[in-house]
Amino acid sequence: VRIAELETELANISLAKRLTEAGLLVDPVDHAAQPIVVRWSAEHTNHLLNVVNEFIFSEWLYGYIEYRARILHPYLSEDEREYITLLTLHGLRRMTEPIASKRVSEWIEVIRQAVADVFVEGETAIHMKVDGVMRFRARDYLAAIDDAIREIVEQFLSDREYEEFVSMLRYMLDAQPASAEEIHLYCTDERIWMTDPNGTLIQDREVSAAAFQVTEDEEVNAEDLTMSVLITRSPCNIVIHDLTTAPPWPSFAETVERVFLERSTRCENCSTCAQLRSNDQHIQGTSSPSAISDN
Ligand SMILES: [Zn+2]
Repeated sequence: VRIAELETELANISLAKRLTEAGLLVDPVDHAAQPIVVRWSAEHTNHLLNVVNEFIFSEWLYGYIEYRARILHPYLSEDEREYITLLTLHGLRRMTEPIASKRVSEWIEVIRQAVADVFVEGETAIHMKVDGVMRFRARDYLAAIDDAIREIVEQFLSDREYEEFVSMLRYMLDAQPASAEEIHLYCTDERIWMTDPNGTLIQDREVSAAAFQVTEDEEVNAEDLTMSVLITRSPCNIVIHDLTTAPPWPSFAETVERVFLERSTRCENCSTCAQLRSNDQHIQGTSSPSAISDN
């Protein structure tokens, strides 16, 4: 029978549980800082190495990401940090591109070998610090985790900002009584315009003037201006004609849907869209959208 002492600053109770569940003999562990004493027979060494490796790339890694997220992004709430940690862990596992020049499977092999190096045949007093092995042998991998966390946090914060933006617009819309108007909204890669059901271009001078005043000499953002017009007019129905080819997420059409909910619908291959698509080059030119008539 061989004996080893395993130490981990992160998730040591989970390691003890994994080893026990794998049928290895483990002394009771009842507090987080306690080293784990494990006994096994020599022919089961590979089995033990597998269990330790699986632990490292699941609970230990989770604990490490959580710990780094706490240091790097202390403003996150506990729930938010947990969410970020899970997303980062899943992202790292699914990563098909190399992380710090090695693929995930290569990192798993590097660590498997590093752990195996500690469990040398015939060695009697085996003592392994999981954190030490990782910091020494997977330094670049751990450094890459900070970048992965940052990317996930940035995405999370911009999603949240967008949600708040949509809520604010919805709040503004709720303050307006719905009108009987139906507005057709056209979105292309180049421009946005609105018409009434007869195809007559809507140009809201008052809103344009207001937007112009607010932004003074700055260029008026077409999407913001269109949204102001839509909210001010508060139509009971908006038909969205989305002709964009590769809109950034979230697209303006999606934002309008998120704000107007059931008051917005998408056209289903209407004849105007078909005409606009076939006249694509013409549309991208200098022609005025007011020349386009709906059927
Ligand atoms: Zn259409």
